[in-house]
Amino acid sequence: MKQQHFGTNSAGKILDIIKPENNPKKPVINWASLRENKAKYEAMKWADLPPIEKNFYKESSRTASMSQEEVELWRKENNNIICDDLKEGEKRCIPNPVCKFEDVFEHYPDIMANIRKVGFQKPTPIQSQAWPIILQGIDLIGIAQTGTGKTLAYLMPGFIHLTSQPISKDQRGGPGMLVLAPTRELALQVEAECLKYTYKGIKSICIYGGGDRKGQIDVVTKGVDIVIATPGRLNDLQMNNFINLKSITYLVLDEADRMLDMGFEPQIMKILIDVRPDRQTVMTSATWPDGVRRLAKSYLKNPMIVYVGTLDLAAVNTVEQRVIVIAEEEKKAFMQYFIDSMKPKDKVIIFVGKKLTADDLASDFGLQGIPVQSLHGNREQCDREQALDDFKKGKVRILVATDLASRGLDVHDITHVFNFDFPRNIEEYVHRVGRTGRAGRTGEAVTLVTKSDWRVASELIEILERANQVVPNELIAMAERYKEFQIRKEIEKDIRRPQRKPSK
Ligand code: ADP
Ligand code: MG
Repeated sequence: MKQQHFGTNSAGKILDIIKPENNPKKPVINWASLRENKAKYEAMKWADLPPIEKNFYKESSRTASMSQEEVELWRKENNNIICDDLKEGEKRCIPNPVCKFEDVFEHYPDIMANIRKVGFQKPTPIQSQAWPIILQGIDLIGIAQTGTGKTLAYLMPGFIHLTSQPISKDQRGGPGMLVLAPTRELALQVEAECLKYTYKGIKSICIYGGGDRKGQIDVVTKGVDIVIATPGRLNDLQMNNFINLKSITYLVLDEADRMLDMGFEPQIMKILIDVRPDRQTVMTSATWPDGVRRLAKSYLKNPMIVYVGTLDLAAVNTVEQRVIVIAEEEKKAFMQYFIDSMKPKDKVIIFVGKKLTADDLASDFGLQGIPVQSLHGNREQCDREQALDDFKKGKVRILVATDLASRGLDVHDITHVFNFDFPRNIEEYVHRVGRTGRAGRTGEAVTLVTKSDWRVASELIEILERANQVVPNELIAMAERYKEFQIRKEIEKDIRRPQRKPSK
């Protein structure tokens, strides 16, 4: 290795303060010893932890008897499930998917009873492939669109994991499962799902910014099994030593792409320093961008990945998508026309880009005496919960929302999605459109596009074409204009590029 020459400035003159004569015993950093100490410290930190049990899977004879062709056909027919083993070196065998609930939970009658109670017919594609993997104790990355049952995909194996550990709850001394979710709404939704399937008296708690901090702390310190939290608030409790994370053996990073978008990476990093490294980790995401890959690499060990469908997922294909190219100042009038033509049973979510626009539109409706609710990050937590509840129960049939507040919202009977502002990117468009057409229903999406959205025109055309939707000519023209603009820009850049000086 080349020796770094400390103590010289750019001019090559030796700086006075660290001249050898002024600093005779220059301290030498012993990196090897530091590394060794760190490893020792790590080992000490995780010494004396109770053992973890991770593999609970008993493959049913029906699942085991599926032929390779059957498995492949089944995956293809279930929204094109793609699996891979990301373990380096020799690949493991990806387990066959489970076609029925019984195939995976027959030894867990309480879980089966819960599923019967809610009346689900069969596992969703992500569940059918994720369950046999997670139940074997393998880390999993689940990529599937919102509304495809990812919550139960990780909750059910989590319940089994929690209640099948070699040590008792008391010996554990803290929560056994942690779910990190990007927003309060999503955390609350996961909690609701948890409560719906309560299993063997498992206790859960939801921890989020804006909620009752003292109440949350009381419950955390009194001992729960599952903590569902937004990273910000959990990190806050962690820093104040209100919560013991060492007992966690099953970790979920839910909607990882969204958590990154919201800038939670540093908090996640800090939280995970205190979670034992030999835990099991499940990560879900609706998209698979670089950031999420990086997260997976840092925090999952030899995971398998299950990827369901592509951008043009099932939900989007059951939605009729209309795109209207319009001038910014005409948007309000068009929306008014749309709202006026709503039928009594219709339920619409209006997506806007800014909190301010959400307030603005909501107050416009209010002035006209039209009942409406709004959802965005600047509203108080209780108002947001109320808004969602009103919309779910149908007290209001119009919800104005920003992407931040609405991601993953699970309201079944939305008939229309109205994109007042085009979203930041095409993935978000797909998510928004997926808010309707859920659970086998059909839905309609109306999207306003203005000149300033020209960057996304070509991607939008692609989505529309894939889903056999009408592509407006104005949109095609817009995409072409953008392409020309880019080419022109490139040429100009080339012309203006300064001649490079020859390097020394
Ligand atoms: P995601 O996390 O993928 O966005 P959710 O887990 O919120 O989706 O699930 C969306 C809805 O589908 C929830 O209301 C959930 O109860 C329901 N659901 C989950 N699993 C099934 C299933 N196997 N069959 C029918 N509905 C299901
Ligand atoms: Mg979810």
